[in-house]
Amino acid sequence: MPASRCLTPPMNPRIILHLDLDAFFVAVERLDNPALIGVPVLVGGRPDSRGVVSSASYEARKFGVHSAMPTAQALRLCPQAVLVSGSRGRYDEMSRQVMALLGEYTPLLEPISIDEAFLDVSGAEAHYGPPGQLARTIQDRVEAELGLSASLGVAANKLVAKIASDFRKPHGITVVPPGGEAAFLAPLPIRRLWGVGEVTGRELARLGVETIGDLAGFALEDLRARFGAHSEGLWRAAHGIDESPVVVEHEAKSLSREETFAQDTRDPELLRRELLRLSDAVASRLRRHKFVARTIAIKLRYSDFTTLTRQTTLDDPTDSGPIIFAQALALLEAAWDRRRAVRLVGVGGAGLEQPARQLRLFEQEDPRQAQLDAALDRIRARYGESAIQRASLLEEPEALWVPKGKPED
Ligand SMILES: [Mg+2]
Repeated sequence: MPASRCLTPPMNPRIILHLDLDAFFVAVERLDNPALIGVPVLVGGRPDSRGVVSSASYEARKFGVHSAMPTAQALRLCPQAVLVSGSRGRYDEMSRQVMALLGEYTPLLEPISIDEAFLDVSGAEAHYGPPGQLARTIQDRVEAELGLSASLGVAANKLVAKIASDFRKPHGITVVPPGGEAAFLAPLPIRRLWGVGEVTGRELARLGVETIGDLAGFALEDLRARFGAHSEGLWRAAHGIDESPVVVEHEAKSLSREETFAQDTRDPELLRRELLRLSDAVASRLRRHKFVARTIAIKLRYSDFTTLTRQTTLDDPTDSGPIIFAQALALLEAAWDRRRAVRLVGVGGAGLEQPARQLRLFEQEDPRQAQLDAALDRIRARYGESAIQRASLLEEPEALWVPKGKPED
């Protein structure tokens, strides 16, 4: 009966959870200082030093304050707000605890920022009950054991699960049943969709597209004429179709770190420091997963969103922060047009290999550096990624960057 085949839901739909902590930085500050509970709180840089807001409590958001807004402007909108400078190390540490808790439920865990992660819990129903119940269990445990509020989305894919976690924020749970993806998305504003940024959003608005459902109403061929190669991805997203897997870090054949500056910059020293920090983070992750990278890459995005990537291949693959940094800096210096302001930099390692232990002894040029790296890794594993930093990172102006992707919320 071929006619009925297309009406049958997929035999084994995946079950993907997306967890997003609510006003995470503010919540951590409140754990440490209960006097901040119930009052408008901003975590961010000082208003007199170009500081920006990296997290605003929901009380402050009522006044129009949001992440990435200059602190001076936020304080004009909400003068009674309490400004806290924040402690990245403390946030990393709490994030690590949240991820460890999530890891108890599935090895298929993909943290995508300091306060967000995907979990693939397909097939776990026998163990944990229906997925909505599992989401509630996780939400309750995060609150009871770590004192943090989380919102969760449950769906058959990452795209829909992520949009669902945002649907009833804060402290919400939204379950989208398999087959219900397109209906769930249809009434939502088009900007909620992944891949719809400023430019695509404006173009879609000209076509009269306001909701995701409006976009889903277009035939793929009609979109192709306007959006070219981008159109199929858009069309599939509008229908709630996404087959991308939950990617576990150590299975990745490449890994990278990037930061968007809160304000575009032409300051070479600031770029150098950010590159050093990212190189160290990439090296640390390589070592944690016992990989070395043969290819080192950088990513550079200018203020007009033009993006360059450059890479270099090494004779001897490495997991050393100083070596990765030296390569990344050379690539940056060759690629960067200094007249143009930079919005984002990234550092990545690719061509990952898992060398035999004996080989590695000879690869490491400087045994003292290897010992230092190992000591740094032990401290980071115990106290979180930014518990220790090289001395030149410590002068970093506070809160000049925001986490990757959308601002923390
Ligand atoms: Mg969040």
